[in-house]
Amino acid sequence: KPRVRFAPSPTGPLHIGGVRTALFNYLFTKKHKGTFVLRIEDTDQNRYVPGAEDYVIDALNWCNIPFDEGPGKEGNYGPYRQSERKHLYKQYADQLIQNGHAYYAFDTSEELDLHRKEHEENGKTFIYNWHNREKLNNSLSLSENEISKKINSGDPYVIRFKCPIDETLQLTDEVRGTITIETNVLDDKILFKSDGMPTYHLANIVDDHLMEITHVIRGEEWLPSLPLHVLLYRSLGWDAPSFSHLPLILKPTGKGKLGKRDGIKGGFPVFPLQWIDPKTKEIASGYREDGYLPEAVINMLAFLGWNPGTEQEIFSLKQLIQAFDLGRVNKAGAKFDPEKTKWFQQQHFQNTDEVLHVEQLKNILQKKNISSSFDLKKVVGLIKERAVFTNDLWDLSSFLFIAPSECDEKAVKKAWKEDTASLMHELTRILSDISDFSSENVSNIVKSWIKSKEIGFGKIMMPLRISLVGSLQGPDLFDIMSIISKEETIKRIEATIE
Ligand code: GLU
Repeated sequence: KPRVRFAPSPTGPLHIGGVRTALFNYLFTKKHKGTFVLRIEDTDQNRYVPGAEDYVIDALNWCNIPFDEGPGKEGNYGPYRQSERKHLYKQYADQLIQNGHAYYAFDTSEELDLHRKEHEENGKTFIYNWHNREKLNNSLSLSENEISKKINSGDPYVIRFKCPIDETLQLTDEVRGTITIETNVLDDKILFKSDGMPTYHLANIVDDHLMEITHVIRGEEWLPSLPLHVLLYRSLGWDAPSFSHLPLILKPTGKGKLGKRDGIKGGFPVFPLQWIDPKTKEIASGYREDGYLPEAVINMLAFLGWNPGTEQEIFSLKQLIQAFDLGRVNKAGAKFDPEKTKWFQQQHFQNTDEVLHVEQLKNILQKKNISSSFDLKKVVGLIKERAVFTNDLWDLSSFLFIAPSECDEKAVKKAWKEDTASLMHELTRILSDISDFSSENVSNIVKSWIKSKEIGFGKIMMPLRISLVGSLQGPDLFDIMSIISKEETIKRIEATIE
């Protein structure tokens, strides 16, 4: 049974790229009845942002893709925050040194800057690897004695991976197939830092190993780290998990990677939940606060880099689990489309049980202190088709609860003629005689009256609509009348005649 992990660094709010990674991990492992682990990768204290971990957890919960093991849900592999696992990593760095796969490096940042500058002046990039590692300030050119002296006297050092020379690596990625890379182009990455903390690379593979992760599913930005990770597994004598790198998510224009700034400047959300930056107080809008259904967001995300191979586009979470297949994940970048997101929202909104919409409308009315005796089921039925968000339930029906106080000038000009007032008077008399005020009955009576007068329908229906709605838009007039009642209908017509 697979064990997968979502391993965010708490450096800010999770944007949809991160949620998509979490979702694909979730779908894959639920399909195969495995375990979804959340691991917080917080070894870089400088980039730690308070609130970011809670944000991740809240976001996963809101999306209905909760983790099985993680902070607050201890399994047999905890703790699940790397900062609480600090003591675990050093031994593996030491093991690599003992086996000749790593070495101490004492170069100061000034020294390294100098090397970089020199290289730049010669039009080259400085790479710390087999080219020059023997000439730099590290343990490869020192005796055992000299090394321990340096370390014991407190000289700051890092531990670097000693990348093998002249080897052609054949790496397997479930999405991309075989990737070939020469080890000579790789650099000797730092595994352990002078502050006593492991780097992302070491902590990540040690934890994946100790947590018995079977499949690593992550964003394409980690593909360049794959050779190092595979080499680390080999050097530690461990089996590597399988790897899948998910395609980039591109801006709506298709040019460049979708970034967190796009959610602040772009006019559309790219975050699941609203985020208020603790430092700048800048607010980034979230799908939840903007009224999106988590089902719609999940459905949209699933199609960023994956498709079921059929025409079907609307999926529930359960259906996604069933249909998901890592083999159908694309290599090419996936364009993010805010309009398509709205479309998914509309589809899922329409599919929502009407009982829930009635409840939601009730809540909105309560909040607005509006008490109403209307049949809310009928109200929802009347407007539902045009609603995309929960708020639309109110925006599209508010005229039923609050009589229009102003009318659209242009509409009045178009609809109100010299004889309109007297026709409306006549209409109120006819309406007041009707006892069965159902939409059908009123419609029959009013329509045959119009016919008998031999006038156009618009002559009555347009001013009537203005009286009841305040504009020339809105749902069926006879449905409206039957909902707001005979008395209210007549009241509104009389109010406009005056
Ligand atoms: N901590 C890394 C991140 O923030 C995890 C990358 C991985 O999944 O290996 O995305």
